[in-house]
Amino acid sequence: MQKRRTQVGIVGAGPAGLMLSQLLAREGIDSIVIENRSRAYCEARIRAGLLEQGSIDMLGEAGVGARMHKEGLAHDGIELRFGGQGHRIDIKALTGRNVMIYGQHEIVKDLNAARIAEGGQIVFEAGDVRIHDFSSKAPRITYTHGGEPVEITCDIIAGCDGFHGICRPAIPAEAITLYDHPYPMGWVGVLVDAPPVSHELVYSSTPRGFALFTMRSMTVSRLYLQCGPDEDIAEWSDDRIWEELELRLDGGSDHKLPKGPILQKGVTEMRSFVCEPMQFGNLFLAGDAAHIVPPTGAKGMNLAFADVRRLSRAAADFLKRGRREGLDLYSQRCLKRVWRAQHFSWWMTTLMHSFDTYNAFERRAQQSEREYVASSAAGAKTLAENYAGMPWAWDED
Ligand SMILES: Cc1cc2nc3c(=O)[nH]c(=O)nc-3n(C[C@H](O)[C@H](O)[C@H](O)COP(=O)(O)OP(=O)(O)OC[C@H]3O[C@@H](n4cnc5c(N)ncnc54)[C@H](O)[C@@H]3O)c2cc1C
Repeated sequence: MQKRRTQVGIVGAGPAGLMLSQLLAREGIDSIVIENRSRAYCEARIRAGLLEQGSIDMLGEAGVGARMHKEGLAHDGIELRFGGQGHRIDIKALTGRNVMIYGQHEIVKDLNAARIAEGGQIVFEAGDVRIHDFSSKAPRITYTHGGEPVEITCDIIAGCDGFHGICRPAIPAEAITLYDHPYPMGWVGVLVDAPPVSHELVYSSTPRGFALFTMRSMTVSRLYLQCGPDEDIAEWSDDRIWEELELRLDGGSDHKLPKGPILQKGVTEMRSFVCEPMQFGNLFLAGDAAHIVPPTGAKGMNLAFADVRRLSRAAADFLKRGRREGLDLYSQRCLKRVWRAQHFSWWMTTLMHSFDTYNAFERRAQQSEREYVASSAAGAKTLAENYAGMPWAWDED
């Protein structure tokens, strides 16, 4: 068995794990990232695309913001559509903050490149990854690589291995509370080789269901349609997708839907999920390993970055100065932002989607809420503040 040693053993090379490794390196702290997929697979995985102001700033401060600032699309607002009419929410005017469109897979490429250029250690295609002794002072991670068994001893383990990873399930069930809220719907998502409908995101609510018109660049669109919870993508032909997108854009003279080849399509499930606390002994969960939000509020990757920002500081305080308070309070401090994002993502989802189970009263109440947000400065500001992301000072220690 090959034996290795590091200060922080990180499971998962998604946005959370890679950003954590990058932030720790800035603090002079050594880490090894263990990932079960290949680098090419991770860099081609199309997922999030919208960065809050705090995440934009963090990428810059971590030394990986240059390409984002060059190629990303800064947005000052979004459009809510219902009843065939658009209502712009001017996020910049309401909050002084903006958001940025820049694909998660591009961030993963930038972080991989930066870590590897700086001599950072990322093990791709690790097999049978397991964590051990994480309630002790000498936790271990074991895995196989190229058929050889490897053991890493470390001071702390960061579980950044996503919702389906191995770290959260390794915590004794009696030590955590799981809050799980599935939704009676999913999203059909397509990546299209065509310009976006509009230069900003369009969230459209129609009696046929919700649709989101977003983009990855000014030549590639990312389009979503509300669908049933367990739908088979084979049921969604390209023709059916275009027809439904057209109907749900309900664009009138405001918007035309540019068409092009569909490059990728799939169905995403919708759920809200939180694991409390996000730590056990010397194991600390971050990102989707600890919490999931429905994509309506575009919060998942942003929350992952907020977690690792806090974890990197707490780990540095412990490993450099012997102070453990930040690690002990890690979960408690993260959860204020996590639950704000949970409520906002649930609220945006219930505001804009169609629910078969709603009675006539609930439909009218939902309609009233949309009209309030679109026509009241206070309603619009609440949406804008949450959408741009709460400033770091809001939950600073
Ligand atoms: C359709 C869609 C749209 C979205 N839009 C947005 C958006 O606009 N804005 C936003 O902020 N968020 C969005 N999200 C959410 C965002 O993609 C996730 O929150 C984000 O990927 C979380 O990052 P993570 O690093 O915590 O987890 P992941 O990205 O899941 O990374 C976990 C990593 O761990 C690896 N791993 C898993 N198991 C193991 C194991 N046993 N051993 C080793 N490695 C393992 C995985 O291969 C992966 O590389 C969206 C998600 C979806 C599905």
